[in-house]
Amino acid sequence: MRKLAGWNTHLEEVLEVVNGRIALVTGAYKGIGYEIARQLAAKRLHVFVGARKVTEGKQAAESIAAGGRSAEFIEIDVTNPESIQAAARAVASRVDHLDVLVNNAGILDDTKGIDELDDDTFLQTLATNTLGPIRVTQAFLPLLKRGSGASIINVSSGMGQLSEMGETYPAYSISKTALNAVTRQFAAVLRDQGITVNSVCPGWVKTDMGGPEAPRTVEEGAETVTWLATEGPRELTGQFLRDRQTIPW
Ligand code: NAP
Repeated sequence: MRKLAGWNTHLEEVLEVVNGRIALVTGAYKGIGYEIARQLAAKRLHVFVGARKVTEGKQAAESIAAGGRSAEFIEIDVTNPESIQAAARAVASRVDHLDVLVNNAGILDDTKGIDELDDDTFLQTLATNTLGPIRVTQAFLPLLKRGSGASIINVSSGMGQLSEMGETYPAYSISKTALNAVTRQFAAVLRDQGITVNSVCPGWVKTDMGGPEAPRTVEEGAETVTWLATEGPRELTGQFLRDRQTIPW
């Protein structure tokens, strides 16, 4: 088992039953993020359950940890640089490396077409879905560099595919196209350091964002992220995937 800084005896015992690999998932108290965190914990990773809502985040971590899994809450608002830095410091005080970062937190606030799109909606969407993952990745890079072949996974969307781009949800779609570019940039920078960076589209999933008509379950939506984080091919980097297959940008 890899060395973990500052763990008490109980947590060291818990980590005896996990495989020493450690993950952070943002926006993880509900929806696809919660399910990714749950699946990673079930695969015996220790999971930091990231959320900006403290009560909900703690409840989610407790629920994932029930039954002998290893999970703990970490407060993180991906639009707030101070919150991100505080989260990075808190995680660094608990563990000495990170193997998986899932940038999952996201918003879809569009109510108008691009011809009427207002600045606030556009900027807030970019701040959450695009700049958030850049800042979070930067803040956790020192820990990721100490991981064993770390994986960064950006939860993107088919709505960001330029090849399929239409007129719906302009701020959201553009933010995910830009997130895919963020994936390419980090993948290029980190390729020689053994850190993979990919975008994953979960499909249309039944969540608060996806709505009740969505055909996919959260289990199905989370599956490719979990696969990539735990058993996906190490040479796979700088790609956009859905259902374990690469898809066009
Ligand atoms: P969801 O149920 O609405 O969950 C979104 C999560 O992100 C919530 O936990 C939310 O917490 C969190 N979040 C939003 N802004 C945040 C911030 N500034 N800091 C921290 N957390 C924040 O949506 P979902 O369907 O599970 O979506 C998860 C990811 O999948 C998103 O990136 C989304 O774009 C992507 N996706 C979803 C679908 C779909 O069909 N559902 C399809 C393609 C891609 P709060 O309650 O605090 O806002």
